[in-house]
This record gives sequence, C-alpha cells and structure tokens, in this order.
Amino acid sequence: MTPHRQAIVNALLFDSASGTLRPHTTIVIEGGRINAVTQEPLRVDDAPFIDVGGRVLLPGLIDAHVHVVAASADLVGLALQPPSLVGAQASHILRGMLHRGFTTVRDAAGADFGLQEAVERGLYEGPRLFISGFPISQTGGHADMRPKGMRGSGMFCSCAGIGLMGAIADGVGEVRRAVREQIRNGANQIKIMAGGGISSPTDPIDGTQFSPEELRAAVEEAEAANLYALAHAYSPRAVTRAVQAGVRSIEHGNLIDEATARVMKQHGAYLVPTLSTYAALADEGQRLGWSAAMLDKLAVVQAKGLEAVKIARAEGVPVVFGTDLLGHMHTRQSGEFALRTLAMSPVAALQSATITAARMMGQEAHVGQLVPGAWADLLVVEGDPTQGLEMLADPDQGIRLLMQGGRVVRNTLAA
Ligand SMILES: [Zn+2]
Repeated sequence: MTPHRQAIVNALLFDSASGTLRPHTTIVIEGGRINAVTQEPLRVDDAPFIDVGGRVLLPGLIDAHVHVVAASADLVGLALQPPSLVGAQASHILRGMLHRGFTTVRDAAGADFGLQEAVERGLYEGPRLFISGFPISQTGGHADMRPKGMRGSGMFCSCAGIGLMGAIADGVGEVRRAVREQIRNGANQIKIMAGGGISSPTDPIDGTQFSPEELRAAVEEAEAANLYALAHAYSPRAVTRAVQAGVRSIEHGNLIDEATARVMKQHGAYLVPTLSTYAALADEGQRLGWSAAMLDKLAVVQAKGLEAVKIARAEGVPVVFGTDLLGHMHTRQSGEFALRTLAMSPVAALQSATITAARMMGQEAHVGQLVPGAWADLLVVEGDPTQGLEMLADPDQGIRLLMQGGRVVRNTLAA
C-alpha cells in the first residue's frame, strides 16, 4: 500500500524548467502529490523514504502523440473489432508505455473516457490519459478510411466508442457538431485532420483539408469548452492554415519550411514530430502489406522529419515529444529519443518529453516538472541523462525507480 506521506532522498534532481541538475535533493510526497522539494537538510525519518544514492531523478515522461487503441496497424480491421477486445488490447499497450517511463500520454485520437476511467480507477495500469475521442475529418480526409467506391457511412460516427476511424464532418455546422460530440464524451483536446496522411488511401500528402472556416469553427468549439485543437498536417500550406485558424499543436509537420515555422512561432504553436513511426514503417510497411502509394508518401515525409525539427528549433518553435506508433511497433517508443538527439541535445529532448509537453497541454502545474503541487510521477535512472539518453532506451535496466502518483510501479534500487 502507498503510504500517505513518504520521501525521496539523496537525489540529483533534473529541473526540467531550467534544464539543470540539482544535487542533494529531498522530495516529500503527500497523498500522491509533491509537498516539498528542497536542497536543505530535512529530517524525513517520521515517514518512509527511499534513498536513491545520488542518482538522477526525472519527472515522469510525457508522450504527446500516441494511439493507445492502435493494437494493430490495420486500422480498418481494428474498426471491425468489438470495443471490449480493443480495450483489452489497449490495456497491454498502456502498461508497456508506463513501464517505459511514460507516466502521462496524450492520445491523439482513438481512446475514450472508458479507458481513461479504467486507468484512473486502477483497473488498467497505464499513464495518465488525455483523450481526444474521435479525430474530426472531412469526407476523403485522413481519418476517412473507407476504401474508394464504398458508399455507406455506417461504420463512421461521432458517438461514444473507441477506434481511429474519423468523425466525418463537412461544412461548418457538421464540424461544430462533431467537435461538440467529442466534448460531450469527455475529450481533453480536439484532434482535427488538416492535411493528407500516409495511412489514408486517397488524399495527397501535400494537400490541405477543411476550409479555413471549418478549421476556425473546430478551434472555436474547442476553445468554447476551454480546450484546444491539435491538427494533423505535413505541408507548409496545411500547417499555415491550421495555425492561422488557432490550432495550438501541429502533429508531424515534416514538410515545414522556415517561413511556416515563423508563422507557428508568431501564433504560439507547438510542433509534435513523430519520427519513430516513420522509421518503424520504413522497416515494416512492406511486410504489413502497405501499398506502393502509401510507401511513396512515407519516403517523402521520413526524409524530411529531422530537418523539420531543426527548422522549428532554429525559429524558436517549442518542440514536443511524440511517437504515433501502431500495433507491435509500440515497443519502439523509447527509440524516439535516439532519433531526436540527432537534432537536439539530450537536455532539450528531455524537456520536450516533460515541461514543454506539459505546457502545451496546459498541465504544467500537475505533470512535467517536480515542483510542489505536482503529481509524484517520477523516474530514477542509471547514468547521466543530460549527457545521453541510452538508459531510457533500455528501461528494464536504465530505470531503477518508477513512481506514479506516489505509487511505486517498479523499484530495483535494492537489487
Ligand atoms: Zn497519429
């Protein structure tokens, strides 16, 4: 059982806001949240404590682009599975993410309030889950998975449930209703498809989706409920339109140029690159039976992914950690760090997966930094992550203590 009051002592704290390490840190935890963080000598022997032996203490990691229901890369096949089975499979994906050190994830469409509640109630072990519900897509857009020629729309709705099929909406009125349906079902943020994608059959990757009025309507409805919108977009044109409509976070964004990054900066937008999914699909796409057209689209965006990160950083656009993995490829989640550190320092990569992600989500008082009032979501790692992040790539050995809301998920410090 988790003690009400406990402490972590002798830690080298990674201060995610400043990107620096603070030695001899004691953290006092009460009721699952951090009560005090101090470098002063503090008597904690009235409470159980864990001495972490001077190792580095990190805030729990945040992955801001996951699909916890994506148990298969075959998204149409997934849509035909019963929700009970999808949920059961999602529980394994959630558990895997938590054990890799991700104590919070933003689901970029697919998960519903049932999965979120299952995690909150401890029925499923997993990260804190911020849900988007169904992605909003225009007819023929990135989340319209109907094969060419299929007329019916019976598989597609914006009612409660789980799955990556879009809530298809055309025109300002339908977009408003689709967004309101997601909000009615507990969405924490609204996902819209603002440009072409790889996995969708008929939309060009450099095209735009939704009219400016539709994009604006989606953002307005999200903001009316004190939420924000995230948009799937690759091309400069699609990203610029989305950001000008008020979208806070651009997902993928592989094809952006300097001018687009400047517009993002001007509007206070964030970039959430997802490099690992392109690497995974380049390895496995053919075996998964992806068409030549899909693999061609993949090659175009994969080649530009790292460059987009460099451009965004050079223009001062905050960059956030995301992965977007599907099916068995979820095991590559921590591999995103190795890809990122080709374009940014380990410290910047850690900030992208902690404080910067939390700020984008408006959750920095609760997650992403170890400060009084925040959840006691934390990791103790082997080695110095400000010099290199290889310990995160091997979480079984590299993460010695993993705590979520004060609950010890794993502790091998005594071993
Ligand atoms: Zn995605």
